[in-house]
Amino acid sequence: MLATLSIRALPCDLVDCEATCGASRASNGKVAALMTRRTPRRTNSKHESDMLSTEPFWQSQYSRPVDLPVTAALPEQVDVAIVGSGYTGLNAARVLVKSGATVSVIEQETIGWGASSRNGGIATPGIKRPIKAIVEKYGEEKARAFWQASLDAIDLLEEIVATEGIDCDWRRRGHVYLAYKRNHFDAMQKSVAWYRDRFGHEVRAVSPNDLGAEIGSQVFHGGLIDENSGCLDPAKYVYGLAAAVARHGVLLHEKTILQRVARDGDRFSLQTSNGVLRAKDLLIATNGYTDRLVPSLKRRVFPVGSYIIVTEPLPVELQKELSPKGRMFYDSKNFLNYFRLTPDGRMLWGGRNDLSTDLNLQASASLLKAQLVHTFPQLEGIPLTHTWTGKLGITFDLMPHIGRVDGIHYALGYGGHGLALATYLGSEVGKLLAGQISSSPFAEIPHQTMFFYRSEPWFIPLVARYYRLVDWIS
Ligand SMILES: Cc1cc2nc3c(=O)[nH]c(=O)nc-3n(C[C@H](O)[C@H](O)[C@H](O)COP(=O)(O)OP(=O)(O)OC[C@H]3O[C@@H](n4cnc5c(N)ncnc54)[C@H](O)[C@@H]3O)c2cc1C
Repeated sequence: MLATLSIRALPCDLVDCEATCGASRASNGKVAALMTRRTPRRTNSKHESDMLSTEPFWQSQYSRPVDLPVTAALPEQVDVAIVGSGYTGLNAARVLVKSGATVSVIEQETIGWGASSRNGGIATPGIKRPIKAIVEKYGEEKARAFWQASLDAIDLLEEIVATEGIDCDWRRRGHVYLAYKRNHFDAMQKSVAWYRDRFGHEVRAVSPNDLGAEIGSQVFHGGLIDENSGCLDPAKYVYGLAAAVARHGVLLHEKTILQRVARDGDRFSLQTSNGVLRAKDLLIATNGYTDRLVPSLKRRVFPVGSYIIVTEPLPVELQKELSPKGRMFYDSKNFLNYFRLTPDGRMLWGGRNDLSTDLNLQASASLLKAQLVHTFPQLEGIPLTHTWTGKLGITFDLMPHIGRVDGIHYALGYGGHGLALATYLGSEVGKLLAGQISSSPFAEIPHQTMFFYRSEPWFIPLVARYYRLVDWIS
């Protein structure tokens, strides 16, 4: 099992909210002062992390719109009840309501509260499971379908943003996959022809000598450029999507926790913290936040934490030096870092040193800052403003899945690629439920669990140790 789990993604959780939110409130004034300063201030970084906001940066810039039409009152019954208001749930709702179905979206917190408003905002081709491992397991024809779906997912995201008029800073700037070790670059160079011959997909290798045109860092041994990737502000996207589906007629219910699922004739009877809702179909779209409500579903996905920091806004010249073309980046370690500039010119830096979901956010900031400065010594002493986390949903085969357990539909398991893939699988499961399609590549593969996983992912620390070792020796 350890050998199958290549944790080459991103993740996280609102850890210990009592402690971290308190710190956040106490530091609000300081953070506001930091954010209004024009020239980044050099600090003694030893105490810097004591005053960072633990609210996800995107939410602090653009919080859930007050005019989002949510309703506390549950209807008596709907055609489809959807649990989870991230990209999966909202995109499924969008398709279903347009097909004429009545739809309620139930969210235990506020709309978009999960990973969908706290991620890196980077959409890249591919799936968590490495493409060559997909070819090995499913054969070339199926692998081509999965690869194509990952490209279609980015196009779909772009199309939805345009069609629904969502102002979320979407840009196609391409990404650079950075070689952390010299032998990683050798493999990258070989993969250029592999992608072209097998999938007709163009990527370009950049030698260490030419890398300066892409990134202002000396630590990498070359890279692979894919121009298909894009980026956006994840919170603006999820709130814009919620506003759009509400306009189309979807009912949005916040602070409504699904507590129990029962059968009532040909319907589901859903006990929530706000009353009972009956639904012909039920879709669970809770990904990394999946709880034990449906035990057989819980056993098919486990949460992994991903952590992010952002700096103060950087001077324009420094932004150009760090990322001359405004690319997105991630590196070739298993415990990888992913990073990009934000629309207001901050460096956003994500990663982890652990796979757990409950790391101390101030300690996480110190660790991520050290990695950031190792990559970009120019940022030594540049203050950070935010440190936060959220949860990824990982499956044992590292594939996203659409499926059904006990008659309940689900779509999950994006492993850090959910910006585009949750948009895609959410739409696909919506079309399946609406009868617009009869199959989807992600609904046709077996979804395995492991006998040793019941509800607590106790094996995560062992997996983390294994991958740290692989990073060291590879
Ligand atoms: C820090 C971080 C960085 C990331 N960076 C990237 C990136 O750069 N690019 C990328 O492609 N992907 C990234 N991801 C992954 C991506 O954000 C997710 O894959 C995607 O948002 C999943 O969307 P979703 O709708 O399936 O789930 P979520 O957005 O997580 O939504 C699930 C929702 O279900 C709700 N819920 C759970 N249980 C219940 C219940 N019982 N009753 C009611 N509601 C419930 C939760 O409150 C939550 O809001 C990142 C994730 C994290 C955490």
